[in-house]
Amino acid sequence: MSPRNEPSFRQSVDLMFNRAVALMDLPPGLEEKIRVCNATYTVRFGVRLRGRIQTFVGYRAVHSEHMEPVKGGIRYSQGVNQDEVEALAALMTYKCALVEAPFGGSKGGLCIDPREYDEYELEMITRRFAYELAKRDLINPSQNVPAPDMGTSEREMAWIADQYARMNTTDINARACVTGKPIGAGGIAGRVEATGRGIQYALREFFRHPEDVKKAGLSGDLEGKRVIVQGLGNVGYHAVRFLSEEDGAKIIGIIERDGALLDEAGIDVEAVHQWIVKHGGLAGYPDARHVADGSAVLEHECDILIPAAVEGVINLGNAKRIRAPLIIEAANGPVTAGADEVLRERGTVIIPDLYANAGGVTVSYFEWVKNLSHIRFGRMQRRQEEARHQLVVNELERLDRYLGDAWSISPDFKEKYLRGADELELVRSGLDDTMRAAYQSMHEVWNGREDVPDLRIAGYLVAIERVARSYRAKGL
Ligand code: GLU
Repeated sequence: MSPRNEPSFRQSVDLMFNRAVALMDLPPGLEEKIRVCNATYTVRFGVRLRGRIQTFVGYRAVHSEHMEPVKGGIRYSQGVNQDEVEALAALMTYKCALVEAPFGGSKGGLCIDPREYDEYELEMITRRFAYELAKRDLINPSQNVPAPDMGTSEREMAWIADQYARMNTTDINARACVTGKPIGAGGIAGRVEATGRGIQYALREFFRHPEDVKKAGLSGDLEGKRVIVQGLGNVGYHAVRFLSEEDGAKIIGIIERDGALLDEAGIDVEAVHQWIVKHGGLAGYPDARHVADGSAVLEHECDILIPAAVEGVINLGNAKRIRAPLIIEAANGPVTAGADEVLRERGTVIIPDLYANAGGVTVSYFEWVKNLSHIRFGRMQRRQEEARHQLVVNELERLDRYLGDAWSISPDFKEKYLRGADELELVRSGLDDTMRAAYQSMHEVWNGREDVPDLRIAGYLVAIERVARSYRAKGL
């Protein structure tokens, strides 16, 4: 846990915001308007479970409505509180602005340990929570669109979508009231992997900028880089799976609730994932060394550290001992404002949360657009594109015949070129483009201004400038 003099999560986000606005020239008062959380709704509701009424506490914070709907996940965790959802809602505002997803920021949470309830009970609780939020327009396709977060998944989103549809039987856009739904309930291909995929695309883009890589004291690309991940949940699992399977990175450490695994030779991510699904934790996994004190492994030597669990894990208590030269914040707020300062002084490069984990909301945006347009991406163009490509292939085949042995079409060219992109490919392409563009906007500010010390401040500057622009345009 964080030391006593550590600011709260929300104060931490505000401190980072303040450091950025100090470098800007905003009209008086606008800074305060952007920073504050517009409203937080607290609800206490009862559900009859196991023969008695149990009371639950839930929140939905709306940070900024400069664009609507506002967007952000709903988390199920015992640690949920108002300070946390407000910090997370603020991060959503900056995240959406940075990746140009046309949303304001929001976040919700329910104080609950989902592992203590069976599926039927969770459905009752989720439906009731959704009812409470929907009746106040805190779930609504044009006002507030939740998504999964820690402790929730496609399953909860399907219940929420269904609950909203039952309450709004004539709303033709009902499915757009929540994102991260299963495909069969109006979801989009690639949403489950999106945040982890975004981490991969973010790192690829970082390594395309040798001057930035050098600042971290690293060189080359992702091939052979030694990675430690904290949290093998949806985000961490997909991130390190893709990095190891597709980019040649070596996962040397995995930290989970019940300790950590270490193996310099590289850990088989899929095997560990299967082990956790079956046994509920890392303990007993046979092919790597088990360390009981998981958080100590954050301090282990590696090239890239990926905190993908909860906020505040890198704090004033351990910042000095973190040895990774590059940290990518897959979780929201894993590095406190105090630790951020310590690490910056030591030259550690941090790829900040508001950029790094924006892959989730980016693909949520695509899902929301898909729901509103009532058509799957690619449905109109795919065959037409295929027909046009066929024309090129026909010509090449003619040339091939004409040139005889002198030249021939590469064996798999025809198949690859003819195949039109399906929804998953389009989603990945849109996500990749978004992550590249957002990185480049931060990179320009970081490298172009002497007073901008790191990527986080650069990210905040880009995001706050965009939010400010939209307030100015509204005449506020
Ligand atoms: N909960 C995710 C986040 O923190 C996704 C939010 C969304 O898709 O709206 O970014």
